[in-house]
Parts: sequence; C-alpha cells; structure tokens
Amino acid sequence: MLRGKSGEEIELVRESSLLVGKTLAEVASLVRPGVTPLELDKRAYEFIHDHGAVPGFLNYNGFPNSLCISKNEAVVHGIPDEKEVVDGDILSVDCGVLMNGYYGDSAYTFKVGEVSKEVDDLLETTKRSLMLGIEQAVAGNRVGDIGFAVQLEAERNGYGVVRELVGHGLGKKLHEAPEVPNFGKRGRGPVLVDGLVIAIEPMINLGKKGVSQLRDGWTIVTADRKPSAHYEHTIVVRKGKAEVLSTFEFIEEKLKIEA
Ligand code: MG
Ligand code: MG
Repeated sequence: MLRGKSGEEIELVRESSLLVGKTLAEVASLVRPGVTPLELDKRAYEFIHDHGAVPGFLNYNGFPNSLCISKNEAVVHGIPDEKEVVDGDILSVDCGVLMNGYYGDSAYTFKVGEVSKEVDDLLETTKRSLMLGIEQAVAGNRVGDIGFAVQLEAERNGYGVVRELVGHGLGKKLHEAPEVPNFGKRGRGPVLVDGLVIAIEPMINLGKKGVSQLRDGWTIVTADRKPSAHYEHTIVVRKGKAEVLSTFEFIEEKLKIEA
C-alpha cells in the first residue's frame, strides 16, 4: 500500500516545488532565438544556489547538468549544449531541486519565437492532458485513472503517448513509489491515498509513440523524429481534489510580459 506524507513533509516538498517554478520562470525570461541551452542551464544553476538549494538532477545517476533541456524531437533527458536555438524550436525544460532534504520536480515546454500551429496544438493538448491527469489524482482513485485520463486526451487528438518513461512519487528521493504512467486503465493499479506526493508528467509525441535513446546515453528522442512535448507538476493527492505543489504561474507571467 502507498503511504501519504505528513503535513510537515508536504510543506518541504511545496517549498522545493515553488523554487522549481521560479527557476523555470527565470529560464522563461531568457528563452529566445540565439540563446543556448547551456546558458539556460548556467542561469538555473546560479538561481537555485542563490536560493539555498541544490539542483536535483546535477550528478543524479551521473547526469552532467542542472536542467534537462530537450529540443524538438527530444522527449526528455536532453543534455544542455552550446547550439543556439532558432525561431520555431521547442524546448522541454525539466527542473528539479533539493532543498532542506526534499525534492521538487516540474517541467515546461517553451516555444522559441513562433512555432507552427501543429506544434502549438501539441503543447496545448499536452498541458491539458496533465491537468486532466491531476483531476484524477484524488484519494480513493487508482494510479491507472491518472494514466487513462492523460492517454485519452492525447490519443483522441491523434498523438502518441510515450510508454517507456513515467511519472513517480517523490520526497526525500527524486524517484519514489509509485510509478505513474501516462497510459492505463481506469480502476487499475495502486490506490491513491491522502497525502501521497507524486509527479505527473505526460510526454506526448506529435507522431507515433515510439522512442529511442541517443548515443550520449541520456537523450530520449522520438523514433520518427517528430516533435514531443513535456509538462510536469508535483502534486499531493487529497480527498476530493489534488493540490498542485509546483506552479506554472511565474513562468506564464514572464511569458505574457515577453509576448
Ligand atoms: Mg522532472
Ligand atoms: Mg519527474
């Protein structure tokens, strides 16, 4: 059976998750044609340290950077590089921090300049599928209810749902039980309990669901090399309605100002 966290633990995850949201907003303010993923990564590293935390992904299983930055056909786990991004790219930026012994984890897919209508729709649907998944994260439901909701929304729009990578519990560790797939059947899987902290993170492909890994040992790309989107929130399961601990509010404020 899954275990919910104490109020005190949840507050610590909330603080870490808030810092992740602020870090991603800092990234948002820098995303434009000509910026390099490595510049974004450096800024995130400084920002996280300035706020008394450490990047959650740096050195995690040997990952070399603070952010995972996955461009276009890269799904997740992209390594920030020095190649300037161009108008029409999308960047899925995944950020984790560790502060006071607890992790926060959230991801957002940014547009560089103007993207095609096709890609814009993919981003909107992926974000919506995340929200629909969160709606199912209530005590008494099962893990499969979350995946079912995400998958339904993605597939009815003609997109592919990545199977190989999943959401997860988190707290003192970045990855804890349970696994939270973005596909599933209603009423299947472990029962969600009040206080359970999980990251829900749909990875949705414009084309087919298949993925492969690049030779760098990290980057996951779509098998058909079509674009992929990734949004992630850290949430706590509650009775009646889940509480979202991370936030896109700071990001979207920045994006509005930029636009
Ligand atoms: Mg993440
Ligand atoms: Mg995660």
